[in-house]
Amino acid sequence: MAALESLSGRRHAPAQQFKIVRYGHPALRENAQKVGRVTREVKELVAHMAELMRAAGGLGLAANQVGVARRVAVVEVEGKLTPLVNPELVSAKGSEPAEEGCLSLPRLYGMVARPTQVVVKARDLTGKQMKLRAEGLLARALCHEIDHLEGKLFVDKVDESTLHWLVGETTAGEPVIQPTTLEEALKVFVAAGGRDEL
Ligand code: ZN
Repeated sequence: MAALESLSGRRHAPAQQFKIVRYGHPALRENAQKVGRVTREVKELVAHMAELMRAAGGLGLAANQVGVARRVAVVEVEGKLTPLVNPELVSAKGSEPAEEGCLSLPRLYGMVARPTQVVVKARDLTGKQMKLRAEGLLARALCHEIDHLEGKLFVDKVDESTLHWLVGETTAGEPVIQPTTLEEALKVFVAAGGRDEL
């Protein structure tokens, strides 16, 4: 992934300024279009997405989340960055609830049931078709990102009774949470109108 490293290390401003969009942005509800060829533009998009994902401390990012409705996503679990072009879920097994959040709905978390094992097919950055077998956290991240590419968000499948804001940390490093409802939470994002100070 040398190209990604050199791009993310660039000091000058990129030609197009990407940023992570928040709940309420129409791109998050779009069904992303398939990518034809893996052009330089696609590779640059992936590099910017990887950079934004890392800066925000995320495990994954879909192109919809930077306002681009194309079937491109990145996931990074256990230090391994995987760019995915036209990813598709081939098969899924099992179901397990775990806490989930989303860079487009910052500070909001809740339990989401996801498959425990998945097979995903996608193209890599050389355009080659690959098959990815994943379990656990990587399987969850892949499902979350593929959902994004279909205009779906974790709040569509969250167990509403577990939905909460992460409001801070105690001096002992324990998370401080505040329960919320789906309606209330989504209203907060819509009222913020995509602004960053949330
Ligand atoms: Zn997300």
